[in-house]
Amino acid sequence: MENIHAVYNGRFDSLNNIKISPLSRAYTFSDSVYEVIPFCNSSTIAFDKHILRLEKSCNALSFQVDIKRISIEINELIKKSNLKNGYVYYQISRGIDNLRSHMFDQDISIETFGYVVSHTFSSQSLRVMFCEDLRWQRCDIKSTSLLGNVMSMNDAKNKGCDEVIMHKNNIITEGGASNVFFANDECVFTPSLSNNILPGITRDLLIIKLKESDIRVEEGEYTIDDLTSAKSIWLTSSTKGLAQVIDVIDKKTNIQLDHHLFKKCEELFVKNYFK
Ligand code: PMP
Repeated sequence: MENIHAVYNGRFDSLNNIKISPLSRAYTFSDSVYEVIPFCNSSTIAFDKHILRLEKSCNALSFQVDIKRISIEINELIKKSNLKNGYVYYQISRGIDNLRSHMFDQDISIETFGYVVSHTFSSQSLRVMFCEDLRWQRCDIKSTSLLGNVMSMNDAKNKGCDEVIMHKNNIITEGGASNVFFANDECVFTPSLSNNILPGITRDLLIIKLKESDIRVEEGEYTIDDLTSAKSIWLTSSTKGLAQVIDVIDKKTNIQLDHHLFKKCEELFVKNYFK
């Protein structure tokens, strides 16, 4: 296996050499949070926003972390890898129990783990499926508890899809690993943030640039019908960028490929963030 640069509890090593305890609470309870930090031409994209979100996730679970040390480790991983384009996966767990127990011991120490891999930020076109959002009610925390996402996305994969668009009682929440945008001829729309949605960094970056431009953008509560009648749908994430939906299985849609508002958004995003 190729040598993937990694770091575990502050110690840099190749991913193959890192051994973890089965009593890590990341393993027994998904009592852990994570970030995916992209970099392009050796520069991170929206680094401070990713670090701030990681800090918020840690605060939500009362993890005491040294965020400065973590920021240094993430940059160090990128440097050590010599990669130009890629991302760092960084995970923080509450620590390692003496024996599995829901109620944790206050004395356990935070466990940190990260690695860096190459990634090509090429534009993607997606085939998607709608599904009921099966997840818990704190999807705003970037926790590794992703079983709802995993089940729905693999169901979608078995049906020939690349992603899902989830809804709670017909109200669109987000993608399995992305946020949802759509447009008619005049305006771009995206579900507003709530405890059911991860505050995506890519979503935020795009909205900032749209608000500076002459393109109208609205955040609100939208239904499956709003999406099927839209002229364009796209999903956003740190690794996908803006990925156009080209087909929704089992639904009739009004999608026009390469709709002018999608193309304008894509251009704005690439021009401002991928230098
Ligand atoms: N929602 C979910 C559920 C995700 O997993 C992701 C990707 N991490 C996103 C949204 C998009 O977030 P970001 O733009 O910060 O990558």
